[in-house]
Amino acid sequence: MTSSVQTLVQPFRLFEVRLTGRRPLSDNFVRFTFSGADLDRFADNGYDQRIKLIFPVAGDDFGDGLGTGSGAGADSGCAALMGSQEDWYTVWRDLPDETRPPIRTYTIRAVRPEQGEIDVDIVLHGLVGVASTWASTAPLGSSLIICGPNADHDGVHGGIDFHLPARTGRILVAGDETALPAIANILEKLPADARGCALVEVPDAGDSAALPSHPGIEVIVVGRGARAHGEALVPLVREHAGRLLDDAAAPVTFSSAASAGPVALDDVDVDHDMLWEVPEEDPEAAGTPLYAWLAGEAGVIKLLRRHLVAERGIDRRSVAFMGYWRHGKSEGD
Ligand SMILES: Cc1cc2nc3c(=O)[nH]c(=O)nc-3n(C[C@H](O)[C@H](O)[C@H](O)COP(=O)(O)OP(=O)(O)OC[C@H]3O[C@@H](n4cnc5c(N)ncnc54)[C@H](O)[C@@H]3O)c2cc1C
Repeated sequence: MTSSVQTLVQPFRLFEVRLTGRRPLSDNFVRFTFSGADLDRFADNGYDQRIKLIFPVAGDDFGDGLGTGSGAGADSGCAALMGSQEDWYTVWRDLPDETRPPIRTYTIRAVRPEQGEIDVDIVLHGLVGVASTWASTAPLGSSLIICGPNADHDGVHGGIDFHLPARTGRILVAGDETALPAIANILEKLPADARGCALVEVPDAGDSAALPSHPGIEVIVVGRGARAHGEALVPLVREHAGRLLDDAAAPVTFSSAASAGPVALDDVDVDHDMLWEVPEEDPEAAGTPLYAWLAGEAGVIKLLRRHLVAERGIDRRSVAFMGYWRHGKSEGD
């Protein structure tokens, strides 16, 4: 009797990359291009595909050439991760604080496998936080690790929270600058006959340069200026959600859940809990005329969630709400 040992191909894997391009898109956005020997194996799924950027701690010279990691010292946290692809997260968790590389979540903006390149659009929010500081100061040639979808994996990769229903009346996509790269991908990938609107609050109106257009989606970008986060976005969503619901030619019959009207919501304490609610069921099953995707600062997203689900009675199975960051809290907290 023969037995065969199959190696499990993980949906996500680590890629060692180097910064080979940095192009300002606006005052607050920079497009970073990364190159890597095996980026031809980076899967291109589009939409809001999330990835992890893993930053070397100071003095960690883990890479002396693409894909080799051979310049790493014995105490290099990044080299330890690259040396344990299958189980890198456990290795990461067990590293001493001084060498454990910080991790932040981003959206993949473009994948060019044939050129071994990927793009990530990063908002500069000052010299605070590992990622923003790195993005403001890292010279070309800097190396880091990206955890991204593995093209060699046959199944679904995960890490995508925009699930276009098979049929829906209108689409509402809204968020702040951290959601802008995902919204740009969504606009690029939506079918031409999709209808709805994309509402984005950014630091300055000029940051809209980073957004493409779509024939059926009205794109509205507002500059925040000196206002607080959400002060422009919340009224905009309130106004347009009402209009979209009025406009939506309901393509499917309302289910009893959808027509039940306003519902009570569990409160989410965004200071302690993650605000992350993505429909698990096919939104079509809910029979709602509106599919909504909302991402940005958690406190603001919580207000929007309350408005859509609790006040307007939109079926929660057709809305995805994601707190991408929290005021006064690091992603590492
Ligand atoms: C799924 C997902 C996808 C994301 N995609 C992108 C993307 O493509 N591009 C992008 O730029 N960001 C994106 N983000 C947001 C990004 O991960 C956070 O902004 C992250 O906190 C930045 O890390 P940091 O090290 O700079 O700051 P942290 O160490 O996390 O935080 C330090 C301080 O900065 C504050 N802070 C964090 N982000 C901001 C901000 N944007 N504006 C003002 N203050 C801030 C925090 O409240 C904290 O007080 C995404 C987040 C998620 C969850």
